[in-house]
Amino acid sequence: MNKPTVAIVGRPNVGKSTIFNRIVGERISIVEDVAGVTRDRIYSSADWLAHEFNLIDTGGIDIGDEPFLEQIRLQAEIAIDEADVIIFLVNGREGVTDADEQVAKILYKTKKPIVLAVNKVDNPDMRDMIYDFYSLGFGEPYPISGAHGLGLGDLLDAVANDFPEPGAEEIEDDVIRFSLIGRPNVGKSSLVNAFLGEERVIVSDIPGTTIDAIDTAYEYDGQKYKIIDTAGMRKKGKVYENVEKYAVLRALKAIDRSDVVLIVINGEEGIREMDKRIAGYAEDAGKGVMFVVNKWDAVEKDDKTMNKFIADIRDNFLFLDYAPIAFVSAKTKQRVNTLFEKVKIINENHALRIQSSVLNEVIEDAVARNPAPNNKGRRLRIYYATQVAVKPPTFVVFVNDVEIMHFSYERFLQNRLRESFGFEGTPIRIITRARS
Ligand code: GDP
Ligand code: GDP
Repeated sequence: MNKPTVAIVGRPNVGKSTIFNRIVGERISIVEDVAGVTRDRIYSSADWLAHEFNLIDTGGIDIGDEPFLEQIRLQAEIAIDEADVIIFLVNGREGVTDADEQVAKILYKTKKPIVLAVNKVDNPDMRDMIYDFYSLGFGEPYPISGAHGLGLGDLLDAVANDFPEPGAEEIEDDVIRFSLIGRPNVGKSSLVNAFLGEERVIVSDIPGTTIDAIDTAYEYDGQKYKIIDTAGMRKKGKVYENVEKYAVLRALKAIDRSDVVLIVINGEEGIREMDKRIAGYAEDAGKGVMFVVNKWDAVEKDDKTMNKFIADIRDNFLFLDYAPIAFVSAKTKQRVNTLFEKVKIINENHALRIQSSVLNEVIEDAVARNPAPNNKGRRLRIYYATQVAVKPPTFVVFVNDVEIMHFSYERFLQNRLRESFGFEGTPIRIITRARS
């Protein structure tokens, strides 16, 4: 469950994002002949043989206006902080450069395993290029070619070989794991403090000064919870903590490890663009989700304020219409304890299994009441449905022709399932398959 994390570091233009794409298996980040092109995606899950891991392209974490060397230094530090294994990437065509040595100097400071990969070794004749790089002091360099996909197998074997033993604590089934995500300063660490009833996580008025706390175990009303650490909750006064991409990276990591994600919104400030981006990640991950509007104590309100806020959330987060909304104050602790109960219900819904017979009754009934309209001159027939997965609940609906299942009809079936089974706080997925 707790997947190892691998980070790729190296100076610009050595091929980090090319390798990232190769390993992740899609062309998702932008590669161009320009150093420092912005990348969309810097974090993804990946697998190699039986190993699943998360991969970070540290080159995509742009650190504002810092000078060149400072940028790559900070990226290397992020790799050291976030990764279990580091791939140090260099360019075989250029030999060892000063910037490579700068990166190496940072990496010497960690005990984490480092695998040195020499990129742009596009054919076997070029293998001699690797020898120069022994001088960096990271042992045997692995020749690879991101452009041609060569040598990646051996590299990933070496990386997987260095994965830490899986921790035993992650197998606890009876623990609900949740995280609080949101923009800096919305009150994530204050909420954790409020949960814990003590100042375990130190909060300050200056963004970027919260320290302490990795995951926090907590028991409430006989149920065990684990609060997964996020950006804003493990601040150590590092320069890069307020870098947006870094905050996103930490949010993604936390979402990955959570059953339920609490999207924290600052009630005083209302909904901002970054809230939507963050919520989008939670939605994509298929986790249980709820909204927590914090700082409600500081909001001037009348009898319409809460409903107006709810309408705002529904307008701005159309695809999270199943996520409940709570209004709380970490400061006064108002309604903070109700969050545990909600998280528990969402977690149950996220893992809910519906009996096939009951499921098919609901589907039959839905179809009887509202038959699928003709599409492309043909009529959709639904034979039966079955639940194939939980977390999130996923249903396969067998039909005569996949092509004529319309998005709106799928949405209708989803709504019927929600009306019948609840599913508050959890996405549900419907997959249409042709009956063979
Ligand atoms: P990054 O800045 O380290 O992420 O580097 P990029 O992945 O953006 O690659 C920089 C340039 O090197 C791009 O023009 C790539 O097409 C090129 N490149 C990447 N991998 C290889 C390779 O294996 N061989 C060759 N010849 N070029 C490569
Ligand atoms: P984080 O960056 O999301 O972890 O936010 P913090 O927990 O560090 O809180 C940021 C600031 O908001 C601090 O000054 C807190 O004291 C303040 N704050 C947090 N929760 C509340 C709340 O419920 N009400 C009010 N009035 N202030 C809050």
